[in-house]
Amino acid sequence: MNSLAILTYHSLDTSGSVVSVAPQAFADQMSTLAEAGFCGVSLREALSHREAHAAWPERCVALTFDDGFANFYEEAMPALVRHSFTATVFVISGYVGGRNDWAPPPARLGLREMLTWPQIAEMSAAGIEIGAHTRNHKDLRQLSTAEAQEEIGGSRVEIEDRLGQPVDSFAYPFGYVSPTSLEIVQREFRAACTTVLRRASAEPLHELPRVDMYYLRAARQLSQLLEARLDRYLTVRRLARMARATLT
Ligand SMILES: [Zn+2]
Repeated sequence: MNSLAILTYHSLDTSGSVVSVAPQAFADQMSTLAEAGFCGVSLREALSHREAHAAWPERCVALTFDDGFANFYEEAMPALVRHSFTATVFVISGYVGGRNDWAPPPARLGLREMLTWPQIAEMSAAGIEIGAHTRNHKDLRQLSTAEAQEEIGGSRVEIEDRLGQPVDSFAYPFGYVSPTSLEIVQREFRAACTTVLRRASAEPLHELPRVDMYYLRAARQLSQLLEARLDRYLTVRRLARMARATLT
């Protein structure tokens, strides 16, 4: 099967934290995509194409945003609208309208406002896919089956109740997948994203790898990714990260 880069963003701000991309850099990245003849789509749109054609859409990237920071509304929407791109935003249902205090925030990020339900409703009406990212952003490997069900299925139900729309997609907090959480996610959602650093191809739909934009900070790297010239680099970074995870 052909491949698709599913890009991961978190917060658009100028703090320089590991989860931050500067708004101007994001706007430049969207222009780079458009100038290269690529479109930015939601995961839902990419999945529909894969289901209909047994292949990912050509000359597209999927744009995903984890956690639901309020700066998506202020900083990402204008750039997306300018290019007629869409995206998927994975919101933590228990933190909508709150702040990112589910864990100590990464260095330099500090406490930030999260999206509110009215903003999310407006985004959804504008064609942004709203996905689920659990209720409380817990490490799913540490939970009982009942707790995991509540975190995963509960977030879907809450978002659907608020928006009156089906929620199809899920992102695992921290990218951590356990056999139990995978089983629940397969039952509750059409597809789900991990943080495994790779372009997506024929992977199972509930374990889709993504490319975290933290690793693509240099402007030319996005162009290289689009030309599929970055696969070796991603492999090296993926293996380095796995080695670190094993050691700690
Ligand atoms: Zn997250």
